[in-house]
Amino acid sequence: MKNRVFSGARPTGRQHLGNYLGAIQNYVNLQDEYDCIYCIVDIHALTTLDDTSSLQKNIHEMMLDWLAAGLDPRKSILFVQSHVPEVTELHTLLSMVTPLSWLLRVPTFKEKVKLQPQNVNYGLVGYPVLMTADIVLYKAGVVPVGEDQLPHLELAREIARRFNNLFGDTFPEPEAKLTTFPLILGLDGKEKMSKQLDNDIELALSDEETAARVMEAVTDPARRYRSDPGHPKICNIFRLHGYFNPFQSDNLAEQCRSAEIGCVDCKKALAQEINSTLKSFRERRAKLAEKPEYIVNVLADGASRARVIARETIKEVKQNMRLL
Ligand code: SF4
Repeated sequence: MKNRVFSGARPTGRQHLGNYLGAIQNYVNLQDEYDCIYCIVDIHALTTLDDTSSLQKNIHEMMLDWLAAGLDPRKSILFVQSHVPEVTELHTLLSMVTPLSWLLRVPTFKEKVKLQPQNVNYGLVGYPVLMTADIVLYKAGVVPVGEDQLPHLELAREIARRFNNLFGDTFPEPEAKLTTFPLILGLDGKEKMSKQLDNDIELALSDEETAARVMEAVTDPARRYRSDPGHPKICNIFRLHGYFNPFQSDNLAEQCRSAEIGCVDCKKALAQEINSTLKSFRERRAKLAEKPEYIVNVLADGASRARVIARETIKEVKQNMRLL
């Protein structure tokens, strides 16, 4: 039997290049090696959302992107967190074995308190417990994480271990599959690419929209005139060329340094490469978008397969806790 991978992502709607290069490609690659469960964590989103009016649309758009990018419902279980209510049951049960002090010291909780002082809700502090429930409900042995997420996974392991110590061996302690998620900067060249910061390039844009977006990007600020030599190392357009046009990188760097190429042409070339890389993705997406019922069916089927595993786990958890 293949080892099981679990990963969840918040419903952020249409995905952008940062999501694609950072997470989605990794999800797709893991499908052949592992038994993968990928979840859109809509309940987690509620801890920071004041307004849920876009939530359903965002879930739909995100799943469209995942499927068009190659996530395959025949290989992986794809579903929405709230469609498997057992996760909230397990969250409650795990919250009884999780010391509050463990949760209050989580750095991201402290950050969120600063970011949204008007909405320090109960769910915010319990977030790591729900995240643990997400993973152990499916007895996932492997969780793909970046280095910055290691402390969260360590907490999940501690919660699982504490439960096992109190009630007997129930959950595997999930192992981190340390993944180098490239940090993709946004069009401002400073912050991580993000929809909220409006510095992103959505995968589903048309060729023309992509080109227009690339043209907005900040380049080397020292290059004020076409004849000024450029510094590719500090230019985000050059970094993006590295992902979409890797074989031309050295050549391009030289052309930039000698001012043989101007930023406009360099951006046009990048837009072309992005568009050609995403051509088949966009074609698949357009076809999928014509069949909204297909997405509904994929999610329903994913939830029903996930629930089979979830019900078994909940039964075992309750038995071990002597709740039956
Ligand atoms: Fe950046 Fe390209 Fe302009 Fe050089 S030519 S500064 S790499 S956009």
